[in-house]
Amino acid sequence: MSTPALMPVYPRCGVRPVRGEHCHLIDEDGTRYLDFASGIAVNLLGHSHEGLIGAIQKQAETLMHVSNLYGSPQGERLAQLLVNATFGDTVFFTNSGAEAVEAAIKTARAYHQNAGEAGDKNRFELITFHNAFHGRTMATISASNQEKMHHGFSPLLAGFKYAPFDDLEAAKALIGPNTAGFLVEPIQGEGGIRPASQEFMKGLRALADEHDLMLVLDEVQCGVARTGTLYAYEQYGIEPDILATAKGIGGGFPLGACIATEKAARGMTFGTHGSTYGGNPLAMAAGTAVMEAVANEPFLAEVRAKGERLRKGLEQFIGNYPELFELVRGMGLMLGIKMKVESRPFFVHLRDNHQLLTVAAGDNTLRILPPLVIGDAEIDEFFDKLSAGAASYKVPEPA
Ligand SMILES: *Cc1c(COP(=O)(O)O)cnc(C)c1O
Repeated sequence: MSTPALMPVYPRCGVRPVRGEHCHLIDEDGTRYLDFASGIAVNLLGHSHEGLIGAIQKQAETLMHVSNLYGSPQGERLAQLLVNATFGDTVFFTNSGAEAVEAAIKTARAYHQNAGEAGDKNRFELITFHNAFHGRTMATISASNQEKMHHGFSPLLAGFKYAPFDDLEAAKALIGPNTAGFLVEPIQGEGGIRPASQEFMKGLRALADEHDLMLVLDEVQCGVARTGTLYAYEQYGIEPDILATAKGIGGGFPLGACIATEKAARGMTFGTHGSTYGGNPLAMAAGTAVMEAVANEPFLAEVRAKGERLRKGLEQFIGNYPELFELVRGMGLMLGIKMKVESRPFFVHLRDNHQLLTVAAGDNTLRILPPLVIGDAEIDEFFDKLSAGAASYKVPEPA
C-alpha cells in the first residue's frame, strides 16, 4: 500500500497542530504559531474559549444526539436566536457549509416547483458568479464555474449559469423562463476577499423582486460577525430570501444552517429534506454559545474597531513594499492583501519562517482571518511577524 491512510486530497503542510491557546496554535514539536487563519474563518472565539468549551462539555454530559424525529428544545432555541437576529423566519440546521448551500439551493428550487397551484416545474436554474466557491458536493461544485473543481467529476448537476462577479448587466442578461434565483457570496472568500459593490447587491435584489426570483446568499465565510455585522448583507442595506451560514457559527464545532423567509421556504414541507445529525443537541449547544458571544452590538462594534485598526495598519504597511503588494480589501476582520506577485509562496514563507498563519486565496490574495477575539497584543504580534516576513522575502524565480 502506498496510499496514505488519510485520503490525499489536501496538500497538507508540515505544521501539525495539537493544541490551541486563544489566538495561537501549538505544533507537535512545540512550535507556536500566531493563527490569523482561524481554521479558515471558523474559530471566531479563538481556540480555548471557556464559554464554548463549557457549553459543549455540559451538553455532551447531558445529551449528545437524538433523532430529528423528536422535538428539539435545543434546536428551537438556536433557531429562534437566528430568526430574531436576521431577516429569516425559519432555519434548517446542517453540519457543514456545503450542506447549508445544498439546502439553500433546494429551498430556492422548491419555492418555484413545490408551490401548489402557483408552482412552476421549469424554474430550476440559479445564476451564480465567476470564481465563486460554494463547497465540494456535486451541486455546490456545479454552482461554481471553477473548472479545477470539476475535473474528474462529470457530469455536473444541471441548472447553473455563470455570470462575471459584480456585473449586474451580465446577471440580468442570463434571466430566462427557467431562472429560479441568484446564488452569490456578498464577499467572495476563496475567490480572493472580493466584496461585491453596493450597486450590484442592490441590483440583484431589485431584479429578484421584479422577476419573482430567490436571492440566495452564501455567507458561509463572511457571516457570523466576521465583517463587523452579524451578516454581511446588513452592510448592503438589503435582505436576502435565503442564506447559507456555517464556518464560524459553531466556533469550531461542525455546524451550518440554511435560513429563509416564510415565503421563500414555502416549498420545504414535511418530508422534503432532512439530515441525521443536523441540529443535534451538541451542535446546538455550540451554536448557541457562539451566538450568545457574538450577536450583540458591543461585540460587533469591537470587531469593526479591530478591523479598522488592522486595515489601516495594513494599508500603511503595504506602502513599504510596493513591488510586493497592490491593495487591501475586505470588511471587518475579513481582509485580503492582493499581491503583485504570487501570494502562495509568501503565505508559505510567513508560515514556515515567521510562524504566522494566514490563508492563500484566488487572485493572488493573502487572506487575513484572525479570531474575532484578537486584542491589541495579537495585532502587534501580527505586524511584527508580517514586517519581518516581508523584509526577509525573496520572490521565487519563475519555474
Ligand atoms: C467554506 C465555504 C463553503 C463550504 O463549506 P464546507 O463547510 O467546507 O462544506 C461554502 N461557501 C463558502 C463561501 C465557503 O467559504
